Amino acid sequence: MRQVGTRLCITACTTAEGASCPTCGTSSRRVHDRYGRRLADLAVGGRAVTIALTVRRLRCDAAHCPRRTFAEQVEGLTFRYGRRSQLQQTVLEAIGCHLSNGRLPLPVPPRQAFPDVKDLARQRTWDRSLSSSHTGR
Ligand SMILES: [Zn+2]
Repeated sequence: MRQVGTRLCITACTTAEGASCPTCGTSSRRVHDRYGRRLADLAVGGRAVTIALTVRRLRCDAAHCPRRTFAEQVEGLTFRYGRRSQLQQTVLEAIGCHLSNGRLPLPVPPRQAFPDVKDLARQRTWDRSLSSSHTGR
């Protein structure tokens, strides 16, 4: 982990022996190439966190599978084409749902990961209700 300006950057790589093809489920260990991904994660101590993750692109050797290669995903951290960690995505979706007209209940995120999410959402809701009552809308 290193500090880059006001941001914390965590450098990591995968260590799993292989991964399953998302199309056919066949397990593969044949590495096609490696590449870097940058994921925004939840802030720590008020500082933005970036995960610089090296992942592998693996070959799918199943004869019946139309997919030739696939990128490995890290369970609980990455998802296809995602530029955020799964946890940050979950928190942002929850805030978005709560702030929308649906007023869906907020799931409780891990307190140590992002302790202010419910308070932030409540504060924004409170601010909106104050401004709408003030403007009569
Ligand atoms: Zn496959």
